[in-house]
Amino acid sequence: MKFGTKLIHNGYETDDATGALSIPIYQVSTFHQHDVTSRQPFDYSRSGNPTRQALEKTIALLEGGDAGFAFASGMAATSSVLSIFSAGDRLIICEDVYGGTYRIAKNFFSRFGIETDFVDATNLENIKSRIKENTKGVFIETPSNPLLKITDIKGVADIARKFGMISIIDNTFMTPYLQRPLELGIDIVIHSATKFIGGHSDVIGGLVVTKTQELSKRVYAVQNGFGAVLGPQDSWLLLRGLKTLKVRMDLEQYNAGQLASWLYTNKNVESVYYPGLENHPGCRLNASQSDGAGAVLSFTLRDTDRIHRFMKDVKVGVVAVSLGGVETIISYPWVMSHGTVPAEEKERLGITPNLIRVSCGLEDIEDIINEFDKILSDL
Ligand code: PLP
Repeated sequence: MKFGTKLIHNGYETDDATGALSIPIYQVSTFHQHDVTSRQPFDYSRSGNPTRQALEKTIALLEGGDAGFAFASGMAATSSVLSIFSAGDRLIICEDVYGGTYRIAKNFFSRFGIETDFVDATNLENIKSRIKENTKGVFIETPSNPLLKITDIKGVADIARKFGMISIIDNTFMTPYLQRPLELGIDIVIHSATKFIGGHSDVIGGLVVTKTQELSKRVYAVQNGFGAVLGPQDSWLLLRGLKTLKVRMDLEQYNAGQLASWLYTNKNVESVYYPGLENHPGCRLNASQSDGAGAVLSFTLRDTDRIHRFMKDVKVGVVAVSLGGVETIISYPWVMSHGTVPAEEKERLGITPNLIRVSCGLEDIEDIINEFDKILSDL
């Protein structure tokens, strides 16, 4: 089956008991054990819940992995994956990773003896040169957040395999529709399902897919033991969101391409970061490893003083901390997603006070462009 068909026919399209065209929400904490001498498929909802399991099997199917795991948020998913490492292990993480991932690696996991080296992963030599004897994992995000830098996924997976490291990717920006990192050799895929997978800005959730049974066991031990699981209602919402993933991504990506090309010609705009633009340094690499450039772009205004007016005047679209919704979401990484990253570090990474990130929604793109045009001309 092709991807769009799998989204609809995921094995859970009808309920076996009633024929209902939607899996029931098993809003339950525990399960009656008919016979205590044998194991039933479900015993307690932290360990497994039928609605959550439907979501977990679906994401594993879409990413092409051994098993899927659903968590209470994208950060719960990332934290749980990082919890498979032990004190004394080192990790290499791409330097413009999501701000929350930067924060837990730097301030939380370091307290438990897991140290991190942050590198510009777009150059694979930077990864190789930081590998130490105790480096056990490499974590990348491509396109990265918020500068949409592209990292060679297969290149990272190959290095990881050669040096006995576990390779992990945050695939939130692309979703399995546009990018399937396990096919390129990556070991673990993470999603903030809050974004494109949920797709409607109405649920917080995280997903993980593992490539091998051995990794599945390790992640399951953390999921069940640490217990940051996704509830049945939210699992159901993500299953519903997934059904329209392809059509949403197609239009949102089209809108991003149109907006990026238009911004590129505007005299008040200094730079545009979108991997679908020919002059983006990662354009070719992205096209070789993904089925599209995604629906998120960033741009800088020439005049930083005007940024607040821009954010205040935007009416078609919302100013918010998130992405991947049906509405165009405009964010200001300097204080929002990367607010906790020290200012000098942000400047060094190119996350400057004149940078705006846009996640394109399903609106008619002419309305977004007309409004941006008006606001930018008035500035
Ligand atoms: N990864 C990326 C790329 C994100 O953008 C986010 C949130 O913005 C997260 C992870 C964290 O996800 P959540 O907010 O669902 O915890």
